[in-house]
Amino acid sequence: MNKTTKFADIILPLPLARLFTYSIPEELKADLAIGKRVVVPFGSKKFYTGIVKNIHNTAPADYSTKDIITCLDESPIINSFQFNFWEWISQYYQCTLGDVFKAALPSGLKLESQTKITANEDFQTLEALSKTEEQILNVLKHSKDVNISALNQATGLKNTLPQVKSLLEKGAVSIEEQIINHYKEKKKEFVRLASDFSESEMGDLINDLKRAKKQQEILLSYLNLSKHYFEENALKVSVPELLKSTAASKSVLKSLVEKSILEIYHEKLDRIDLSHAETSGLKELNEYQEKAIAEIRENFEEKNCVLLHGVTSSGKTEIYIHLIQEQLQLGKQVLYLLPEIALTTQIINRLRTVFGNKVGIYHSKFNDAERVEIYNNINQNNPDTAYQVILGVRSSIFLPFKNLGLIIVDEEHENTYKQFDPAPRYHARDASIYLAHLHQAKTLLGTATPAIETYYNAKTGKYGLVELFQRHQNLEMPEIIIADVKEAKRKKQMKSMFSPELMQMMETCLKNKEQIILFQNRRGYSPYLECKSCGWVPHCPNCAVSLTYHRFNNQLVCHYCAHSIHPPTSCEHCSSTEIEDKGFGTEKIEEELTGFFPDARIARMDLDTTRKKMAYEKLIYKFENQELDILVGTQMVSKGLDFDNVSLVGVLNADSMLNYPDFRAYERSFQMMAQVSGRAGRKKKRGKVLIQTYTPEHPIIKNVIENDYISMYSDQLAERKEFIYPPFYRLINICLKHKNQTLVNQASETLAKSLRKIFGIRVFGPQSPVINRIQNLYIVNILLKIEKKSSPSKAKWILNQHANHLKSMDQFKSIQINFDVDPM
Ligand code: ADP
Ligand code: ZN
Ligand code: ZN
Repeated sequence: MNKTTKFADIILPLPLARLFTYSIPEELKADLAIGKRVVVPFGSKKFYTGIVKNIHNTAPADYSTKDIITCLDESPIINSFQFNFWEWISQYYQCTLGDVFKAALPSGLKLESQTKITANEDFQTLEALSKTEEQILNVLKHSKDVNISALNQATGLKNTLPQVKSLLEKGAVSIEEQIINHYKEKKKEFVRLASDFSESEMGDLINDLKRAKKQQEILLSYLNLSKHYFEENALKVSVPELLKSTAASKSVLKSLVEKSILEIYHEKLDRIDLSHAETSGLKELNEYQEKAIAEIRENFEEKNCVLLHGVTSSGKTEIYIHLIQEQLQLGKQVLYLLPEIALTTQIINRLRTVFGNKVGIYHSKFNDAERVEIYNNINQNNPDTAYQVILGVRSSIFLPFKNLGLIIVDEEHENTYKQFDPAPRYHARDASIYLAHLHQAKTLLGTATPAIETYYNAKTGKYGLVELFQRHQNLEMPEIIIADVKEAKRKKQMKSMFSPELMQMMETCLKNKEQIILFQNRRGYSPYLECKSCGWVPHCPNCAVSLTYHRFNNQLVCHYCAHSIHPPTSCEHCSSTEIEDKGFGTEKIEEELTGFFPDARIARMDLDTTRKKMAYEKLIYKFENQELDILVGTQMVSKGLDFDNVSLVGVLNADSMLNYPDFRAYERSFQMMAQVSGRAGRKKKRGKVLIQTYTPEHPIIKNVIENDYISMYSDQLAERKEFIYPPFYRLINICLKHKNQTLVNQASETLAKSLRKIFGIRVFGPQSPVINRIQNLYIVNILLKIEKKSSPSKAKWILNQHANHLKSMDQFKSIQINFDVDPM
């Protein structure tokens, strides 16, 4: 870094629109670089970890700068691709760079306001400390994990930050150590002999130490612990273990190291298994796959993004594997995105058998430390140990890739690719296309049921389109059977949630020792409780939703804010004690099945049963190994899982999806049912799918029966055009929140009115969503629909101006406003 540069612009993990300029103290000038993390003071009491974005000589005009406290990295952890990508995300999705920063880094690499300060044990008072500094140091010596506000409290001082800074400079305390401790690299210190001493040489050495008793003791203890002269391979002895055995200090050990008798070495205990896995070659592609892959390559000549529209079980994954192989041979990185953690479990095995330890996984079920390790692995990009293929969920787009060649977005239609809350409200598929563009890489979108927007882009030539309608080994598409629930109810043939057709088919399956998957889009036992005499339903006190009953822990739970209570024993309105549970969640279905089929082995896969780290793996493994007969689950079971012995898939309630108040409800229902059908009968035998519905005549149900994506697409496209929706229009949702309903209504009226002056009839609302209160905040939405051809950045700029103007009005300054670009 240039000696004369004085300032650095820092991205802070805060939802503030600007960067903050700090001055660079002399001693940090050599260390500082763009992309490194620094600790900076913010406000009077807080420290934050920020990222150096720019380094320059221009002092800010409107404030005097504070000093950067310390630099945390030896080399940058954010590269220029990432900066460009962050910039794009923040502009496109209308959020701050700070929001992106928060989403992009694993929390182990961040330091929020709870900065911990510790006294350095080996600090010797070389420089005079002031009285207050001494006082602070004293507090720190006697307590652990202190942050600035705790320190203020303990010392009774208003602001201890200046003293802490001074202590830091004097080497008396450390902040950074704690920060790194946030992510403790599992690195341990061990001791061994410095050279291969023979037994008699060792005897002499011990003798020589007779006047340094402590050192002698340590050496003897080492020999004792390691069994050096007794065992073929000496045992490992860690430094703490050795010191503990003799009650000696580390300086005594250091003397032995200086005399070249012992040496200290470090061993990193990798949490991620990098051991070499057995790999096997690629599967040979069948003729249809060969044709498809050739078309993909051809399309990539001209287009940066290609849609592979291939029916379930057509072998899309095999095609991906071949394309990945090509990229690896070119020395390029590949990002393979999946919509759901559950799916990574199966795909990882398929990838590892081909690419061994070149494949890494990244998702939220990993703990902090593991995520940091993967992040660092990719950032260091060491040719011998770096992952070249990353399999991950949406947040993996933020990893520090340096030379991506290909991004695969599998099941591209899935809405889990969209982040809903908090900002950045990005869509990982759409963002991937930009990310690939930055690396001059290609994007391959794969699915059996493309999103309407994606298929439209492919049909109109923006993306390449490759279609694959042949299942591998010409496996037949499953037979789809519709059960009319209304009719069965009228005839009183329903057994709880199960139609006679479903009951009969399940029996046959179980008799034939075949497996069953049942799909129900509600978790918990029953969606709500209801008083039998007056109809009262227990609601969440914080949100406008009924509480879901969970039987396993006998709790009523809010699925929006996690508020939970014991179920009431009597009605709050009429005191009746007759309260019944209504509707069916996965938990209740599991229970009822156990009643009907006491011999069947039944399990449930939903959010509640998969919270633990290896829960998915265990469930999927058991089901694959046919240790289970029936798997009941939420949408988790519908997405791309591949089981050999499933002959029946049941959709318990198609109507709840079809009736969902959203312009994508039909599209989603089709995708869901078509995907779920893809789970049936993957090998040898034709599978069956049973769909229970009140509306067997529904056009979407018809499309599903006929496996007719194209008709569904054309119908939907016509509706989208008529009702001004994507792909013809771009949507931006403006969401206003406040705990005062009247205020939020006034604010949204005011904002809508001012927006109408510019955007006219493109402004819809304000409107309350179905669930109009979450966590005590009332919600009102304004929807903006703008023509695809007009400039979105201009519209966004105007939106920001108007929102800021609203916030500048005194009565509305506490209103929360956020934007959701391309809401799902
Ligand atoms: P998709 O991803 O399109 O649903 P998969 O790639 O999962 O399809 O393929 C379905 C099944 O067929 C998998 O078990 C896969 O191993 C197998 N398969 C597909 N193509 C081939 C091939 N060329 N050779 C051998 N097995 C294949
Ligand atoms: Zn009642
Ligand atoms: Zn709630």
